[in-house]
Order: sequence, then C-alpha cells, then structure tokens
Amino acid sequence: MRILVTNDDGINAPGLAVLEAIAAEIAGPQGEVWVVAPAFEQSGVAHKISYTHPMMIARLGPRRYAAEGSPADCVLAGLYDVLEGARPDLVLSGVNRGNNAAENVLYSGTVGGAMEAALQGLRAVALSQYYGPENRDMPDPFDAAAGHGTATIRALLDQGLWDQGDYRLFYNVNFPPLPAADVRGTRITRQGYRKESFFGVKPHISPSGRRFLWITGGPQHLPTAPGTDAAANLEGYISVTPMRADLTAHDALGPLADRFGG
Ligand code: MN
Repeated sequence: MRILVTNDDGINAPGLAVLEAIAAEIAGPQGEVWVVAPAFEQSGVAHKISYTHPMMIARLGPRRYAAEGSPADCVLAGLYDVLEGARPDLVLSGVNRGNNAAENVLYSGTVGGAMEAALQGLRAVALSQYYGPENRDMPDPFDAAAGHGTATIRALLDQGLWDQGDYRLFYNVNFPPLPAADVRGTRITRQGYRKESFFGVKPHISPSGRRFLWITGGPQHLPTAPGTDAAANLEGYISVTPMRADLTAHDALGPLADRFGG
C-alpha cells in the first residue's frame, strides 16, 4: 500500500512522527509511506490553497518533503509533483496537536488536507489528539493516538464506507484526552457544536508600541450533544465522523423550495 502523509502542525511536529509510525505499520514492509508536510505550522488554515503565489518544496530525505504551504497544498504537491502522478491508496493527515471536533473542524488545516485528498478522489482520514488534564502533561500526550491509531485506520479500511461520489466520504478521527490504556472504545459520531464557545480577539501592544490583536479560543471541554464527536471524546471514546465537503443544507432544500413555489 502507498500512503501519503501530511499534517498542519508542520514537518517537525511530534504528532507527524506518530502518524508516520502508524502509516508504516499499515503500509507494511512492501508498502510506501510518503510525507509531504508544511515547512511551518499551518494550524487554522482550513482548506486554504496558495494559488496566488508559488511554494518552495524541499526534499529532506527518502520519501520526505517539506513544502512552504498549507496541508491542502501539500496534498497537491504530493500527488502531482512528489509522486509524479502515482496515486496513493490512502492519505492520512495529522496527528493534530489538539482536538478537531465540533466547530474546530471548520478551521482545521488537518481536516483541510484530508478534504482535499477526498476531492481528488482518494481515501482520506484526518486524525487529531484531544488534549486535557489527563494527558497534557504525560511524557507523550499522543499516547491514545499512538496506541489506537493503527487499529482505527485498519478498521476504517476494512469496514468503512468508501464511496465514489463527487463529494466523496472522508473521515475525521479524534482520540480522547486520556492515556491509551484508558480509552473505552470507538463511537461513530456526528460533528458537534459547542454552545457559547466562540473565537474572539484580544488586543496586545507590541514592543514597538503598536496595537495588535490575537485570536482567542473558546473553552474546549464544554459538552456537545449526545452522539457527537467531542461528547464521545470527553466520555473516553475515539470518535469517527464521516464527512463530505458538500456544504449544502440538505434539510433546508425541501422547505425552501416550497416557499419559492417549488
Ligand atoms: Mn494543528
């Protein structure tokens, strides 16, 4: 099996090494793992592509590249430059430092990389490690992802739905904020919503006296609805959320058409 790996935390991120190890196990001794990851952290860039300027790409070692771009850029670089058109059997993005559950999905470069791979007609999975008081200070906060990542991907390859549609399915996996030994299992989930948790801004004054704004995040441990990603993670389960890039509000189509006279 040929696997393309990317992330949004950058080529030197600890979570990327975790995912490379997972990918190597899944690919097997005869398989290939190719890494094309951002040269610098790209958290929060979502599905951005750098189509107004070129990106530098550097070969760092065998099957290992850093590109000066977003995760989606890295997928494009992998497919059409590094792999020279050879199609990967699977694209993995992560393992992100921090959860990409609930509304975080919309901002996530990790998910953006997987979404671009799905749009390119490839099987794709985004993986993220929730951080919390029970794993944040462990020697390896990625313990849950490292311990359960391979089995989770194998289960998706064996039992997951992999359709051929235009906006084909891809998967968003979040590992709970626990040591691997304390993980309770896996739940198939919907994307949650953290009520009253919004991004905002806070002003700071630079050393030269100029006023800048930092984006502030909302609380990450608010409960989301039962059956959703963050709720499952906070109960100790790995969440697996099937996703599509089609943003149409399918529930509104019928009622809206009725109002507009069909
Ligand atoms: Mn990130």
